[in-house]
Amino acid sequence: MSVPLASAFPLTGTLDQLKKQNAEWARRMEERYPGFFAWTSKAQHPRVLWIGCSDSRVPESVIMNCFPGQIFTHRNIAGIVKLDDPNSMSVITYAVAELGVEHIVVVGHTNCGGAAVCLAEDAHDKMHAFNPQKAAHEYAPKDARETVTWPPPAPLDTWLADLRALAESLPEPRSVLELVKANVREQVLNVINSDVVRSHWYTPTGKGHLKGVHGWLYQLDNGLIQDLECSVYASSPHPFPHGHPLSESVHEA
Ligand SMILES: [Zn+2]
Repeated sequence: MSVPLASAFPLTGTLDQLKKQNAEWARRMEERYPGFFAWTSKAQHPRVLWIGCSDSRVPESVIMNCFPGQIFTHRNIAGIVKLDDPNSMSVITYAVAELGVEHIVVVGHTNCGGAAVCLAEDAHDKMHAFNPQKAAHEYAPKDARETVTWPPPAPLDTWLADLRALAESLPEPRSVLELVKANVREQVLNVINSDVVRSHWYTPTGKGHLKGVHGWLYQLDNGLIQDLECSVYASSPHPFPHGHPLSESVHEA
């Protein structure tokens, strides 16, 4: 390619550049689909909830070639779902109980920085590099500095604790790809164990709409989705009389 990549994709430009691109996008959308914004401004009817990583290279609506309004989204570092996290639980609850999505996809991606840091030998130091409290350490009250709990854990350190534990449970040699796949399966389990999902599975006579929870991998090097084949469907036995349906495959390669 003769054009430098940075010039071909000037997304690191100024905010003015971004505003221009937005105006151009809105103009082209209205030109190609007259009335689109008037229509979508009234309501949303997404049939899919996407749970994925915050990585800028995995923008769900772009890579799935979707219009605004088609995918309800929750993204965070490494695409983690915690049953005690009000953020992810609020999103899942609204998507399932209010919007009535039919499918939830948990999507990991290759070369995930959140997974990579969990495998790094200096993981602890790296995570503390993001600790805003550490920078303020020298300004802390003398009493606070002398305690063993100062500085408090870095947010990223806390957020990735479960993923670090999952990494340590994997057989050697550990790779980022295997950890990403294991993480997707783990998050599928967390999703199906949430109260709102347990109570909103589709039945022909019931009010639930949810038909399946799925685990995917997005491949940065070719732009394609790989199905990790760990789906759980409404037709799976519930509650799970033999344990969780994925329990034996969670740590598979
Ligand atoms: Zn990532």
